[in-house]
Amino acid sequence: MEIIQQLISQDKYGLKCPYVLNPKYITIHNTGNNASAQNEINYMKKNLSNTSFHIAVDDKVAILGIPLNRNAWHAGDGSKGIGNRESIGIEICYSTDYSSDRHSKAFYNAIEVTKQLMIEFNIPIENVRQHYDWSKKNCPHRIRKEGTWKKFLSLCCEAESIETHEQKLKRIRVEKEGLYIREKVNGEIIGFIPENSFQDFDLIMFVKGIQSDGFQHCKVQGSWIYNGLSYENKIGDIQFDSRVYSIEESE
Ligand SMILES: [Zn+2]
Repeated sequence: MEIIQQLISQDKYGLKCPYVLNPKYITIHNTGNNASAQNEINYMKKNLSNTSFHIAVDDKVAILGIPLNRNAWHAGDGSKGIGNRESIGIEICYSTDYSSDRHSKAFYNAIEVTKQLMIEFNIPIENVRQHYDWSKKNCPHRIRKEGTWKKFLSLCCEAESIETHEQKLKRIRVEKEGLYIREKVNGEIIGFIPENSFQDFDLIMFVKGIQSDGFQHCKVQGSWIYNGLSYENKIGDIQFDSRVYSIEESE
């Protein structure tokens, strides 16, 4: 699913996300309240506590509040803890709502988001953790109470859903001129992306390196492309498996 970016202002970085993050783990939380993802993000952005998290997911949307290349204070394991320093924190909303299916929908949406991040950052399933694992807090309380953690992990591994995500990743967007896609070793042109279009493409767009905002993406000769998660771009070839592809401006 789409992860909407609503990042905190940079003057809050020192409070909410002071350190560089190289995500190696994903930490799952329940919010412990009845608020939407939008309200969770709004509250996190405006309050003066250092408590923070990266993504809030509810029954409808996933919103990114802290850049994925900055740490967040969500795991309760201190300033040098692995949870706080090496994991992406995901809050699953509506965890105290027992009268609707909003938490259930948020649960499944969080699985989609987790799968996307596992692929994006090459995070193995054994590194998807509960808040509890870092600091023994009873969180995610609803998942722990209902015994759905194993289900969460097994659905994160489900190949069918990963394929669905790969299909999303294959969709790339060109905002300016059309672009040719050329296989770099043999020089063969394998695709063309028209101007101002989205196009499905038989590659997964993994770009070398993680860029400054934590996303993988690139800017090629003035045109922007992204892999479904990112909006800003940097120059670079596109790598898929061990093959490198270049993107060229059309004449
Ligand atoms: Zn938690």
